[in-house]
This record gives sequence, C-alpha cells and structure tokens, in this order.
Amino acid sequence: MKYFIGNWKMFGVPKSINILKSINSFNLFDKNRNKYQIVITPPYTLIHFFAKYFKKKLIKIGSQNCFYKEKYSSNTSAISPYMIKKVGAKFTLVGHSDNRAEGDTDKMLKEKVKHALKHNLKVVFCIGENKKQKKNNSTNRVLKNQLIKVLEKKFNKNNIIIAYEPIWSIGTGKIPNEQDLSNTVFFIKKILKQIFNNKSPAVLYGGSVDENNIQMLKQLREIDGFLIGGASKSPKKFIDIIKNYYK
Ligand code: PEP
Repeated sequence: MKYFIGNWKMFGVPKSINILKSINSFNLFDKNRNKYQIVITPPYTLIHFFAKYFKKKLIKIGSQNCFYKEKYSSNTSAISPYMIKKVGAKFTLVGHSDNRAEGDTDKMLKEKVKHALKHNLKVVFCIGENKKQKKNNSTNRVLKNQLIKVLEKKFNKNNIIIAYEPIWSIGTGKIPNEQDLSNTVFFIKKILKQIFNNKSPAVLYGGSVDENNIQMLKQLREIDGFLIGGASKSPKKFIDIIKNYYK
C-alpha cells in the first residue's frame, strides 16, 4: 500500500471541502485505487467537518500535529490526540520541521507519538536534515538520532509511518538526487529494523513533490509514498501526482 498524504498547513476554510470532493471523485473511479491511501491533513478547524463528510469514503483525514498530553490539560490552545480522534481524524503528523523549529523537543515528540498511538491514530513521524547538516555529511547521523530518541520497540509499528522530509527541500522546489534519496531511505529502513525487530514501517518522502518530479521519484520503489505540501492544495496537481505515479 502506498500513501499520498496532503499537508495543507495554514490553508483552508469550510468551502475548501470542494478540493477534497474533486480528489475523491477521481479516487472513486481510479482503477489503481486499491493500491494507495489518500490522507489529507487540514488545519484543526476543519477536521471535524471534513472527517464527518468523508467518514464512509476512501479519503482519510488527519491532523498536522497534536499536543504532548493525552486528554485534557490546562495548556491554552493545546489540542490532544484524544480530542483529535474524537472528531474523526485517523492520522496525525508528528515532528514536522515547522513544529520542531517552534520548539518541539525529542522528549515532547516521544510523548506525542505515545499518546497518539494510544488513541489509535496512525502517526506520520517526520524527520529530516537541514541544509548545513547535509553539507557537513551528517544526514545519516541526524536522522538516526531523530529516530532512536523518539521511537521505541514497544510502539505499534503497524500504526507508524515515517516521512523523510529534508528541510532544505520543503517548499523550495529542490529535491534530493535519485542516488542520495535511495541511500537515505535504505538507511532509514535499516535503523527502523534495528528498533522494530527486523521489520520497518512504511517510509515516505516529502519535500517539493509535484506532478513532474514524481516521474523520477516513482523509480524508487523503496519509497512507500509521499507527503505533499504545496501541491496538495490544488486538486489537479494532487491528482496528477497520483496519475503520473501509476502511469
Ligand atoms: C511539507 O511541508 O510537509 C511539504 C512536504 O511541503 P512542500 O511539498 O510544499 O515542500
């Protein structure tokens, strides 16, 4: 099963549901639809509305983040995994580089993953190196640290998906070259197998994925899907990414 996950970031109002309706119409009649899962992560404000509308449909709804406490607390503006699950989300991103930059620590991320899994959310755990780290050839060391500081053997690996998102690639139009990306995904799966008894969760790629570069990315069969930011706000682009992937 491949994943096409659209991360809307700070985008969308109730009528933006039309974007999802277009994607859903395509999905419904796509002969390849059993080969992949579409997930959209709108902002918190739209999760309930979208999840209710798509409850019996193929598209799943997720959140872009969750707070590191389980249910209720006195933290103003915080939203817990329990609250997200109760309004119909099936997935949550954790550890997006935007949120790491805002102060999410490994300790907080571990709590987020733990509580999200407890509430039966599938966790899309994001990792990635920045430009300087890439330049210094420390990508593997950075990724390994991000994985081993947060993930534990006792976590249910069937509900964990890893999204490899090089920070220098997010929203920049730049993507890693084929060989580097293949090596990195292979390395991530090696570390995941060390954590999870020789079995690796799915590993996605994210960072400037579009309807053109998917032609190159699809050659790398070890990539289990894509986390798509900018291009997920356009139904045409998002659908073309899937079409071109299976062409
Ligand atoms: C993201 O922010 O998760 C992302 C992948 O963004 P973009 O596709 O716009 O680079």
